[in-house]
Amino acid sequence: MAAPDPATARAAVYEGPGRLTVRDFPLPELGPGDMLVAVELAGVDGSEVHMFRGEIAAIDAIAPVVFGDEILGRVQAIGAQAAARRGLKPGDRVVVEARWPCADCRPCREGNYYLCDHRWEKGGYGWMRADAPPHLWGGYATHVFVPADALVYPVDADLPAETALVACSVLANSIYWTRTAGIGLGDPVAVIGPGPQGIGAALVAQLRGADVVLAGLPRDAARLALARDLGVTRTVVLDGGDGAAQLRAALGQDPAVVIETAGAQPAKDLALAAVRTGGRVVNCSVPPGPLSVDFTAVLLKQVTMQSPLAHPHTVPEALRLGQVLRARGQDVGRMVSHVFALDQAEEAVRTAGYETPESPVKVAIRP
Ligand SMILES: [Zn+2]
Repeated sequence: MAAPDPATARAAVYEGPGRLTVRDFPLPELGPGDMLVAVELAGVDGSEVHMFRGEIAAIDAIAPVVFGDEILGRVQAIGAQAAARRGLKPGDRVVVEARWPCADCRPCREGNYYLCDHRWEKGGYGWMRADAPPHLWGGYATHVFVPADALVYPVDADLPAETALVACSVLANSIYWTRTAGIGLGDPVAVIGPGPQGIGAALVAQLRGADVVLAGLPRDAARLALARDLGVTRTVVLDGGDGAAQLRAALGQDPAVVIETAGAQPAKDLALAAVRTGGRVVNCSVPPGPLSVDFTAVLLKQVTMQSPLAHPHTVPEALRLGQVLRARGQDVGRMVSHVFALDQAEEAVRTAGYETPESPVKVAIRP
């Protein structure tokens, strides 16, 4: 194999449903505010599984696209203004956040840049056309381009890459979701879905003092075992009977808060059936198609529905939390069960989507 050309980047490009092709791109020219980051590890998440299957029309409308919005890397080159403003130099380790604020919309002014009014046109990592320079807008690549507006956070050199990756994505969500839900000491909390997001939400809800049960299906046995290993004190396997009764039995009472991370209609229905009168349902994940909500039940139980999207402003504390948990023997990096090379990006997405014999928890790509 020939040595890689130092002036060329490689990226796995989504061309259309079921097609991820590794292509070469020239390294972009950097302006004074820009930066080029060499990717160390990129996460594969559920939305990319849906996009790869062609279930998200908005991504097909802008393809070709380099996937990947969970990005850990090292500064390879940096403009003078960016270096001065960000306090970074080549070699520094960073996390690049998926989205960043615009200059003029209300949600961004109020700090919630994941709700930016211009988000569909503006895009972000894993959600930008790859056919025009600077091309490198996704983590499934050797390099990502980082403009002046993008949000970047330093990462300790000694933090394992898997820990940093899970912290900056999964734990960052867990912090925002459990904070939105106002979870406090002694609150009975049920978390539905033992994927990385469910395990993270259960761990952080426990750290906030909640009495937590994490629920999964019989096929989730390995994920539930990992959750217990990471410190989730109570798990339950839903056996297809009365799920609300099973959650009540596990907690000794109905949950005040149900965090729903599975993103399927039966899980949404269970959340609403299980939550106690006057309680809160936290809606964290949705499938591509439509869902139904029993608004009569929402009203008669006076349920508060909350839908926190992603993780505005929580990446720095998530990185610190990842470090603290690791020091306590709870390394969230252990959720990374499968790591693939860039050339295997298609297999990585198929593995994350349960299309292979593997039983993944969190899948990553190491370009
Ligand atoms: Zn905005």
